[in-house]
Amino acid sequence: MFARRVLAFVAVATVLLASGTMVAHADHAPSPTSVVSWREHDRQRAGTVWTDLVTVTPALGRTAELQELVDGRWVTRSTLTVDDGYSAPLGVRLTHHWTARPVTWWRLHLPATATAAEATTAVKRVEAYWEPGDDPASPQVLVNKERPLEPLDWAPRDLVRPDVATLGRHDLLRPVAAEALERLDAAAHAATGERLVLVSGFRPHEYQDALHARYVRGHGRAEADTFSARAGHSEHQTGLAADVTREGVPFTDFGTTSLGRWVADHAWEHGFVVRYPEGAEALTGYRAEPWHLRFVGEDLAAYLHHGGISTLEEAFGTGPAPTYPPAER
Ligand SMILES: [Zn+2]
Repeated sequence: MFARRVLAFVAVATVLLASGTMVAHADHAPSPTSVVSWREHDRQRAGTVWTDLVTVTPALGRTAELQELVDGRWVTRSTLTVDDGYSAPLGVRLTHHWTARPVTWWRLHLPATATAAEATTAVKRVEAYWEPGDDPASPQVLVNKERPLEPLDWAPRDLVRPDVATLGRHDLLRPVAAEALERLDAAAHAATGERLVLVSGFRPHEYQDALHARYVRGHGRAEADTFSARAGHSEHQTGLAADVTREGVPFTDFGTTSLGRWVADHAWEHGFVVRYPEGAEALTGYRAEPWHLRFVGEDLAAYLHHGGISTLEEAFGTGPAPTYPPAER
């Protein structure tokens, strides 16, 4: 809840006179409300706090409801008090609510009082955008063939073992991703009766280097690069990526299972994206990997879901990353 009151440029004597006047005329028709409106279109970075201004007349004794259009209905997100003067500029802070959807619509509604008529601002259309993170510790970090981790051998210091079934020795994740995976597993179990198995979480730089080298020996470099990241370019090195499957199913078959389909539909609700979807090889540089989940946080995951956006490259607007830069090929 936020309320910011800014005293208008009106002298105290004028305020007293104005309020006295309104009381005296209370038996008559309420005075019309004027709202000097706000910016009607805006493009804002998701998750930032931003203040817009409206001026309300009369202001004394009013409340204003900041409303968002959700499924055709106006939903009040916050209430502001605007009672400092006959005419008052009102700082309206919009934050967080628009982070989960690419486009949202807002208005400010002033209910009628005994002395003033109701009023509503014009509808504001806000387009959110996300910027890719550079910090390897950020859930919004973008790691792909064009964007290595910096430094290349970065490793998180706060790894934990999630309370889910695991397989193999790479069973650690960053705490935010571990907790989200536990929630996803619980939701999957409630919905399908089946449980997730964590096949591979955090993998250190040296291990990724050896793994990629092994694939290069077996398949050649060009083919290996379509399904295995070079060290320093792997999301597994952030501790935010988890390869998962269903018990008894090779992870490469996970996408064909009912649990795999459920995860594809619901991972976003717990802050994950299926990072390498079908048909996006030209954008991500990798074949489809239905088992590879990347924790990005609930707002960004919801933004992709609601916007029908399938890859982080598109969500961040960075352009495709199908291959390594020429110097690294
Ligand atoms: Zn993976």
